[in-house]
Amino acid sequence: MRRLFVAGNWKMNKTIAEAEVLVQEMLPRVDAFANVDKAVCPPYTALPAVAACCKNTGLKVGTQNLYWEESGAYTGEIAPKMVAEICDYAIVGHSERREYFAETDETVNKRLKAALAAGLHVIVCVGETLEENEAGQTEAVVTRQLTQGLAGISEAQAADITIAYEPVWAIGTGRAATPEDANDVHKDVIRPLLAKQFGEKRAQAMRIQYGGSIKPDNAAELFSMSDIDGGLVGGASLTADSFVSIIEAASMVAIVMAETES
Ligand code: PEP
Repeated sequence: MRRLFVAGNWKMNKTIAEAEVLVQEMLPRVDAFANVDKAVCPPYTALPAVAACCKNTGLKVGTQNLYWEESGAYTGEIAPKMVAEICDYAIVGHSERREYFAETDETVNKRLKAALAAGLHVIVCVGETLEENEAGQTEAVVTRQLTQGLAGISEAQAADITIAYEPVWAIGTGRAATPEDANDVHKDVIRPLLAKQFGEKRAQAMRIQYGGSIKPDNAAELFSMSDIDGGLVGGASLTADSFVSIIEAASMVAIVMAETES
């Protein structure tokens, strides 16, 4: 059975002081849900403070991005080893990076390799736009993003990768994919691609998160699906109440799944 994994992407929100308040509010409440893996991804400036608060707790910390070079004249960028001093996780290929910052499948692949080499666990985001969805291109887009994004990655390295399927039209819109539609993409497109590259056993062990307007009231239904292994949460990770409720929903689903399996 795959452990559910819920990560919060705070995007460009929260000053250091605000981030500390938020994480201190979350910590005593999320630690109770030990059967769920959980992480928050604050902006760079708040990473050290949030990591200090999360030290020796079950709440892990991730970066929202990183560059692939080790050091040098790359003004404004941050190197893998710099974030690895603070973080356990890295998000790469978020659709906002693709849309606003010219991220391509090739640069996703470079960031992924550099992050893995630095010892980070990486969340690789994929997902189609509304236009692509309406044109029936979901499978083709996700297949291209994964094939190119994961190029050259070995079965052993895949142990440190989570895929996040985030249909772009569902991000920040309040219009989540239906659990059935999302699960179809996870089960019939993404997992078979992982199996083709890494073998069936590794593919079955890898987590595939869903992302796009997850809220406390739709989380349990999404996480109950066979191939939705948690979520990448944007807006609803910005308040303790909603993020904790989503983790609680994951925990309840995990209890039911464990009972069903035994
Ligand atoms: C995201 O940015 O990864 C995301 C899923 O955002 P939201 O939950 O706000 O749709």
